[in-house]
Amino acid sequence: MTPSNLIGTDLVRQIARGVLAMRDFHRGGYALPYPPETQLALDRIVLACLLENREPPVGVPHLMRLCEMPFDKWLTDISGECGEPDTVLINPHTRQPTLACAEWSVSGSNVGSDAPTSSVLLRLAVESHSTWSACRDFLIEHPVIDLHAGPGFLTRPEMKRIWQHVQALYVDLRPELRCPFCGLFASKGKDGAGWCESETCDAFTLKQGRVDKKVKALPWAIRLSLVLAGRVERALRASLVSTGAEVRMASEPFVHALITLPVGATWALVVRVDTQPVLLADAVRSWGVLAGVDRMVVAVPEAVMRPRADYSTVFDRHNTDHAWTLRSTRRLLTEAKTAARKVNQRA
Ligand SMILES: [Zn+2]
Repeated sequence: MTPSNLIGTDLVRQIARGVLAMRDFHRGGYALPYPPETQLALDRIVLACLLENREPPVGVPHLMRLCEMPFDKWLTDISGECGEPDTVLINPHTRQPTLACAEWSVSGSNVGSDAPTSSVLLRLAVESHSTWSACRDFLIEHPVIDLHAGPGFLTRPEMKRIWQHVQALYVDLRPELRCPFCGLFASKGKDGAGWCESETCDAFTLKQGRVDKKVKALPWAIRLSLVLAGRVERALRASLVSTGAEVRMASEPFVHALITLPVGATWALVVRVDTQPVLLADAVRSWGVLAGVDRMVVAVPEAVMRPRADYSTVFDRHNTDHAWTLRSTRRLLTEAKTAARKVNQRA
C-alpha cells in the first residue's frame, strides 16, 4: 500500500455512511454506543493510518471534525480515485452532511438514496403509466406539506387519489427552518446565517427563513435525489417542448425522458444534480445502452458543474465506455434549439 492510495473509494464510502448514521450528532452531542456504521468507519481509518505509521483520529468526534475538512487536508492521503481534493463530507458551517456525503454513501451499489420511493413508484408504473407520472410529479412539486395550513389542495379529488398512493413516503418532522428561495429545509450555521440543504441557494439571514411548526416531508435523501433533480428535469422538459420537441417519460429500465426532436432524432435524457463527477460516471456506466435511441445524454445544471472547473474532464476520464454523454442543461437546450432551427430553415 502506498500513501497515495491509503484511503480508497471503499473507505470513503464507509466514512460517508458513518457520517450519515451520526447525522443528528449536532443536536444532542455524541452518545455512546456509536452507530455500528460509524464505529466501523473509525476502526477502518485507524487501521489504515496505523499500517502507514500515520497518526490516526482519536475517536468519532475527531473523525467528524476531519470530515468538515476537504480531502486534501486530512491526516492521511486519499486516493485520486476518490475524486476532487476539495470535497467535504460535513458542511463546516452547519455541521450537516453534504450532498457529496449523500452521494458517497450510496455509491458503488445499485441501491440509490431514494430506493424506498423508487420501489413505490415502480409498483405504480406497473399498474398505470399516468398514475406513476402524476405521483412522481407530485413528489417533486411537494417535498414538504404543511397539513395545518387549512384544507388546501389535498382535498381536490385528483390530489386525494395521488395522496393515497404516496403519503406513506412522507415522515413527520419537528420544527425545521425553511429556505426562503426554494422551500426546502435549511440549517442555522455557526455564522448565524441560514444554509439551504440544496447547496445551490445563497446563505440567507434567519429573519428571511420560515420555521414551520409541524410538517410532513419526504426524507432527506429523497429530497436531495428525486426532488432536486426532478425540479431541474421538469423545467428542462418544458423548455424542450417549447422548441417543438416531443417529450415522454419512461420508467424502465430506469427513469429517463425520451425526447423526439423536430428533425426526427430521439434522445434519451437523464437529469442529475451530482456534485461528484467520479460517482456520476460510475452510475452512468451501469445504465447501459438503450435500444432505438440516437443519443443518450446525462444533463447536470450549470450551478452544480460551475464550482468544479474540471467537472466534464473528470467525468469523461471515468466514463470509460462513452455510451452516455455529459451536457450542462443549458448546452443541451442550445443544441435542441439549433436542431429545431435547422428544420425550420429547411421548411
Ligand atoms: Zn434553498
